[in-house]
Order: sequence, then structure tokens, then C-alpha cells
Amino acid sequence: MKWEQGEESQNIEDRRGQSTKRNFALGGIGTLILMLVGAYFGIDPRVINQFIGVVQNVAPPAKLEQKRDLTAAEIRIREFNSKILRFTEKVWDEQFRRIGKNYTPPKMVLFEEAVDTGCGNAPSAVGPFYCPADQTVYLDPTFFDELAGKLKGSKAEFSQAYVLAHEVGHHVQNLLGYSRMVDQKRRTESKTEYNKWSVRLELQADYLAGVWAHHGQAQFQFIEPGDIESAIQSANAIGDDRLQKNSRGFTSPESYTHGTSAQRVKWFKLGLRTGNLEMMREIFEMPYGDL
Ligand SMILES: [Zn+2]
Repeated sequence: MKWEQGEESQNIEDRRGQSTKRNFALGGIGTLILMLVGAYFGIDPRVINQFIGVVQNVAPPAKLEQKRDLTAAEIRIREFNSKILRFTEKVWDEQFRRIGKNYTPPKMVLFEEAVDTGCGNAPSAVGPFYCPADQTVYLDPTFFDELAGKLKGSKAEFSQAYVLAHEVGHHVQNLLGYSRMVDQKRRTESKTEYNKWSVRLELQADYLAGVWAHHGQAQFQFIEPGDIESAIQSANAIGDDRLQKNSRGFTSPESYTHGTSAQRVKWFKLGLRTGNLEMMREIFEMPYGDL
């Protein structure tokens, strides 16, 4: 992937190398119970990818202390994520303008080990995730070491960009009201029915990652030979059927929350081919069996 020539985003915060002192003020007004659906990308499937955080009015974070200097490799990782984030800002800003809406970009926080978020405290093991409450994408970049191990060299970069674009896709869904709709289903529907809405939301985020890549490529030409294949390989590795089969030897489709490998690949590719933002609606309207 050719990303070096890009601009850096102003919306990234790097908390790596800082003290991780918790700073939650308890007993504020109102308690939010939020469920986060983290993505699990090729990481040990036994890791729970959903967690519930109870946040009671988060106080402004304390001054975090820099405990160590970041390495040159870590600084390059920040530069990469910052530029990918900037590519998403440019594409979504334009796409939102096209449909007569304003795009407010998400924040991105890089962390290590664990992080306090508007959705509760999260360990690295949950994988990259988006918290709708504070409109922030959280990422421990060491998560990608595993991806990079599977996909050699620069091929891994576009896979990482796909993962980030998927999380930013959740932000797009949040701005356009899809996340709220699914969140409501969680309260009103059975677990099995809710899971189906979760699958729609996740496939839609994959689709949006494809839509982003389509327009990003047109504007910035950042895709190199082999990149698309590596992203497809990643999407294929993180389907619920694949993960369940690998972890326990069988699958139970009623517990799927992200869709099968084939579905994830299908929707990413469709977004990539069409670049059609409006078509995201269809993922919520078509019969579940046709996804
Ligand atoms: Zn997701």
C-alpha cells in the first residue's frame, strides 16, 4: 500500500508509553451501560469480543505521564494510522457532502495493554473497536503483528487499512443512525434476533470499508498489486464460521454476530466495486438469508 505520501490526521492521540492510571469519577449523573462490539481479527477466538462497560460520568482524563520514549518503529506505526485516518476523513467528508450531510470525523486513540474509553475499560485482547459514546476508534497496534505475520511485508498494510476502515465504517453508521437502530433491537428483540441485526451492522461496516477503498483509490491511488487480495484474505479469516470452527470445531449460525467469511468478503468486494454509499441501506432491508 502506498500511504507515505498522504497527510496526517489531527484527530489521533497516542497513549502508548504513558502511565495507565485509571481516572474514573464515580457517582456522576446517570449511568450508561454500553455494549461494545469489538472486532476480532484473527486473534485467539476464545477471546471474548463483546464486553459491557459501566461508565459513570467520565471525568476529564488525568495528565498521563510519558513513561518511555516511543521507538522509531512505533512512531512509524503512528504515522501510518494517522495517514489512513486522514484518507478516511477526506473520503467520508466528500461522500457525506454528496448526500447533503456533514461529516464529523472520529477520534483515534492508540494504546497498549488497556484503555479507558467512553464505553468502559477495554483490554487489548478485544481487538480494534469503535466506541459510539465518545466517537473514537481504539487500537493497540500490536494487534496487527499477528496479521503482519500471516501476510508478509507491505501486503499487511492494506489489510490493516481495511480493519481501520471497518471501524471508521462503524462511525459512519453511528452518524447515519444505523447503530442506534441496532442498539434498540438489543433491548426489544431476543438474543438470536439481535445477533442477526449485529451481523447486518458488521457486514455493512465491511461494505463501507470497501466503499472507502473505492473512492480512496480514485483520489489517492494507494492500492498496489496484491493489496486487495490481502484484505480479502483478512476478511475471509475473520468470519464467524471460520473463527468458531477453529476454536471449537463446529459452528452455530444463530450465534453469529459478524457474518460468515464468505459474507464478509462479498460485502467488502461489493463496496469496493461500486463505491455506492446509498446502497448501504439495502443491507438492512434485504431478507436475512440473502445477505
Ligand atoms: Zn465491526
